Amino acid sequence: MLFDLIVIGAGPAGAAAAKTAADAGLRCALVDKARFPRDKLCGGGFTGRAARYYREIFAPDLPADFDSKTAVALYGFGEKLGVIEDIPPVYLTMRLALDDHLCALALAAGAADFTGRAITAFRPETGEVTLAGGEVLRAPVVIGADGVNSFTARTLFGRPFDPARIGFALEVEAPPLAPEAPLRIDMGAAHWGYGWSFPKTGSHTVGIGGVHSRNPDLKALMRAYMRDLGLPGDARIKGQYLPFGKARRNPGRDNVLLAGDAAWLVDPVTGEGIAYAMKSGQMAALAARDALARHEPAAALRLYRARLRPIRVAMRDANFVRLLIYWGPFRKGFIRAVRGSGRLRHDYMRLLGGELEYPDLMRRLLRRLPNYLGRALGGRKGA
Ligand SMILES: Cc1cc2nc3c(=O)[nH]c(=O)nc-3n(C[C@H](O)[C@H](O)[C@H](O)COP(=O)(O)OP(=O)(O)OC[C@H]3O[C@@H](n4cnc5c(N)ncnc54)[C@H](O)[C@@H]3O)c2cc1C
Repeated sequence: MLFDLIVIGAGPAGAAAAKTAADAGLRCALVDKARFPRDKLCGGGFTGRAARYYREIFAPDLPADFDSKTAVALYGFGEKLGVIEDIPPVYLTMRLALDDHLCALALAAGAADFTGRAITAFRPETGEVTLAGGEVLRAPVVIGADGVNSFTARTLFGRPFDPARIGFALEVEAPPLAPEAPLRIDMGAAHWGYGWSFPKTGSHTVGIGGVHSRNPDLKALMRAYMRDLGLPGDARIKGQYLPFGKARRNPGRDNVLLAGDAAWLVDPVTGEGIAYAMKSGQMAALAARDALARHEPAAALRLYRARLRPIRVAMRDANFVRLLIYWGPFRKGFIRAVRGSGRLRHDYMRLLGGELEYPDLMRRLLRRLPNYLGRALGGRKGA
């Protein structure tokens, strides 16, 4: 069967790509090995940024079953840094429901439904995707939105990610907390990483994630974190790679584009990946549309890279901020600065809430850097 575009993977990135493509009038196939609803290991934190992109790509109103929180307890390396109230709302969702909803919206917009169909072969040069059972789909442009273990990236580059730089995360679903319980974020709960406690209606998602190579015993850190939170130690812990650190330099090749986790678009400071998955999926579909309009499918990657630049810059800046937080010599300064400055804490939450983007945060941080370094070296205290 011939299409204009094939999207592999129907998570947030793939659903956004397929919805955008269908809205633009492209004949689009949406393929996923899973049948929906399917689960995905995730905290389900849906930021103000994610809400903005959702409204832009999918629908004007957020799903009614989202929880929302406007307070967060922030900890750093075991110390309480403060409770921040009146933050922009952070929404909480379960991925089983969210992804089913996003996929349904993409299909309702007109994408052809190939969910529940495994792929057995992909030939990038011809845009041929073979499904289990032998059916062959063909399109001039293909988007790989197939997550951190991306089959598409493996086909292009021989492996889906760089094991030396990848992150890893562990998570449990614990019994629900009181409805007024705040979000909790623990920077440093893992080495070069963080922990999260997300109280939701009917559940309480708890996890930690950090750079894989620096956390040889992440499970022990997870158990310690669960003990700190007063959780029973017998909950079933699940794990998954977390593609944070650095966005791919080449998110694809010619007519094949990678979006979301397949392109390594998880913020290493906040762990946010859903927003960037949706946005990059939309950008990839728009690049595909433009390349097809020019009858130049191989130009799709160039067009996509240009669109993706703000996200790549955000990931680069986030890496710098991660260094300020986690690099040993800076750590003391980070704790003092955050404990002493309500504005810094609020900036962090505005970043998480999608009200502040990295270029603005960087400008503010660079202005304060001398102060910050002074604190790191044991100098002045206070705000
Ligand atoms: C423990 C953990 C907690 C997290 N918490 C948060 C959070 O609170 N907030 C946040 O914003 N982000 C969070 N993230 C990151 C977030 O989950 C991801 O960034 C996001 O899911 C990326 O979306 P995606 O569409 O790129 O990939 P995915 O959601 O992984 O979707 C990929 C899809 O591709 C399909 N697929 C895979 N291989 C194939 C194949 N060969 N053929 C066909 N289909 C295939 C899969 O079935 C899947 O449906 C967390 C991640 C982890 C691991």
